[in-house]
Amino acid sequence: MRVSLQDLYLRHALSVFVGVSVVAISLALLTTWELVSRTTRESVISSTAAANLAITEIFSSEKWHEIKPLLPQGRVTPDVARNNPHVNAIDSSVREFSRKTDVVKVKIFDLQGLTLYSSEARQIGEDKSQTSGYVSARAGKSVSELTFRDSFKSFQGEVHDRNLVSSYVPVILGGKLEGILEIYTDRTSEIAGTEQQLGDLLLRLVPIFAVLFLVLLLSFWQTERARVRHEASLLSLAGENRVAREAAEQANTTKSQFLATMSHEIRTPMNGVIGMANLLLDTPLTPEQREFAGNIAVSGESLLAIINDILDLSKIEAGRMEFESKPFSLAETANAIQTLLDIRAQEKGIKLVLDLDPQVGGTFMGDGLRVRQILLNLAGNAVKFTDHGEVRICISPSGTWVKFEVRDTGIGIPSEALERLFASFSQVDASTTRRFGGTGLGLAISKRLAEGMGGVIGVDSSEGQGSCFWFQLPLQKTTPIVPAVAISRKEATIETPPVQSKSAAPSTAHILLVEDHPVNQKLALALLSRLGYSADLAENGRFAVEAARAKPYDLILMDMQMPEMDGVEAARLIRSAQGPNQHTYIIALTANAMQSDKDACTAAGMNDFLSKPFNRESLARCISKGLEKEAIQGNGATSPRSV
Ligand code: ADP
Repeated sequence: MRVSLQDLYLRHALSVFVGVSVVAISLALLTTWELVSRTTRESVISSTAAANLAITEIFSSEKWHEIKPLLPQGRVTPDVARNNPHVNAIDSSVREFSRKTDVVKVKIFDLQGLTLYSSEARQIGEDKSQTSGYVSARAGKSVSELTFRDSFKSFQGEVHDRNLVSSYVPVILGGKLEGILEIYTDRTSEIAGTEQQLGDLLLRLVPIFAVLFLVLLLSFWQTERARVRHEASLLSLAGENRVAREAAEQANTTKSQFLATMSHEIRTPMNGVIGMANLLLDTPLTPEQREFAGNIAVSGESLLAIINDILDLSKIEAGRMEFESKPFSLAETANAIQTLLDIRAQEKGIKLVLDLDPQVGGTFMGDGLRVRQILLNLAGNAVKFTDHGEVRICISPSGTWVKFEVRDTGIGIPSEALERLFASFSQVDASTTRRFGGTGLGLAISKRLAEGMGGVIGVDSSEGQGSCFWFQLPLQKTTPIVPAVAISRKEATIETPPVQSKSAAPSTAHILLVEDHPVNQKLALALLSRLGYSADLAENGRFAVEAARAKPYDLILMDMQMPEMDGVEAARLIRSAQGPNQHTYIIALTANAMQSDKDACTAAGMNDFLSKPFNRESLARCISKGLEKEAIQGNGATSPRSV
């Protein structure tokens, strides 16, 4: 785990603060000490230097005339200096003068730097011509320095641990440089006194700094505590938010799952209602009875459309919507939609125009059914909300995307309603439901489907003039460009294939129907009989396995959800046992067409898949396809394939 400097600081802020403060305060105290002590020493040196200069002047005027004749004259050698017979006389004269001052040692140099006299006798004869002090004084400028000596020979004899100021001072008489004096003054007590004062000052400063530090520490600690508390409350707020969000997401998922389950449960009996109404319509009826039965069928279809929408929406919201990626023809899709809506458009006296760019011919990879669903919904709305003029469906390429537009000259949409148009259950105003019907789900589903396929959807509209609903999808072409106009309307219409069995006429095919719901049993048996097939009924998976073991069938229709044993398990057992139906074509029947269900069917060895509620056409088509395949491959050669 990487820890940033900021994290480190936040974690150890208090220790960092204490550390930095202690170092800063210590540095401040040390610097103060250093500064004051240096200033003190400099002031001691400069005051002593001035005093020594004055002493030298007095010495020159009072004593020089007396001492000068006692000094060796001319060019003096060290030996001559050492053997000067007047040394004692000089010494006593110097000591006598010094007694009235605080001078502790004196040296006299000639103009060549030779020590002619020193109160410390062994130094007489030393050459000092190169020392900086001497050189400076020789040039006429006196100079002083402060030094600490462990031991020192003064007039009074050997002394220890002394702070001494030594000054080289020129002796000038009548404007003439006569010689150089070096005078030592003892400043130990002054330095000790100021250091004592400095120590006292620091002792007073330390508690002030300590109090200051404690006040700072306290306020920093308070701020830090407030920060930590604030951070903790933010964290707990974030935690609460997360819990609330998770609860909301959970509630939404539960709602979606509930809706998905309910829709599925409703679709099963709806299969019976619509199917039975259609069967009834096939029987001899009085006109009034026919109208009633027709109303039941139409109402059933409308209810089913709403349930399908709710199921779609809840699947999308529960994150269970799956998209296929198979080749499909955009031109066929558009033609089929035109065929479907043309009757309604003609009834309303409006034109429904298809405007396909030649570039959108051929096949594209994607979920053709979902593309069709969006386009049908937009085109259906356009026809619904247009009373004059035309509805135009345009499909054209847009870079690597395909752009779909549905333009109408209908009632249009006020700008303030545009924003919420794609939200669930949203209609422009309440009167829409009364005038035109609908649930307000179509656009919400279309938006989620388009986005689910990686696309975008939108609308441009002006009230009273018409609307243009559009969506763009990233669809990839699979075949070379075939002009869309080449595809005839006929190609796009769905034809019911002729019903044929593998061996002879359809009536000879014998089918095993596996279904637990009593109404759906009756419906399916009636439809099969009308299609000319004979059928046996098994009420659940266990009976189906037994029946399949007993005699051969040309095809098996297998419901998926059944008590005792479901369709997937039954199919698996039929396929795995060596029996007369081990390779018989099996069509799964279900009210819930999820990809995961389809995968489970394929894995169990089923061959095709028919979504409930089915009608006579879809059942006929599916059975006919299965029987054809059986006929091509020969009995016993059907192998499981993708459904
Ligand atoms: P439904 O049509 O079932 O009410 P939709 O989600 O498909 O639900 O549409 C929501 C609302 O958007 C409609 O009720 C209508 O008010 C408005 N609408 C959709 N398409 C059009 C259109 N082409 N012209 C005018 N209004 C439209």
